Amino acid sequence: MARCFICGTEATDPEKGPSRWTRAVVDDEQVLVCPDCQTAHTDWIDRAESCPGCGSKKLYKSLGDKVCRACGHQW
Ligand SMILES: [Zn+2]
Ligand SMILES: [Zn+2]
Repeated sequence: MARCFICGTEATDPEKGPSRWTRAVVDDEQVLVCPDCQTAHTDWIDRAESCPGCGSKKLYKSLGDKVCRACGHQW
């Protein structure tokens, strides 16, 4: 079960609309950040890895590769 890596809340899918949870890569692991922690614990963004191409922190992992959601860079 996916959980927020800061507070441990279990991730839930919204009934409609996009999820407000954010994916990021911290210490080479894909993590999830819940909406509350995104606003209450903004320091997670400093720990998150950024894309070497565009600097975005919106990354996720796919089959061991890191993928940037902003520019599509994969490494
Ligand atoms: Zn949280
Ligand atoms: Zn990028």
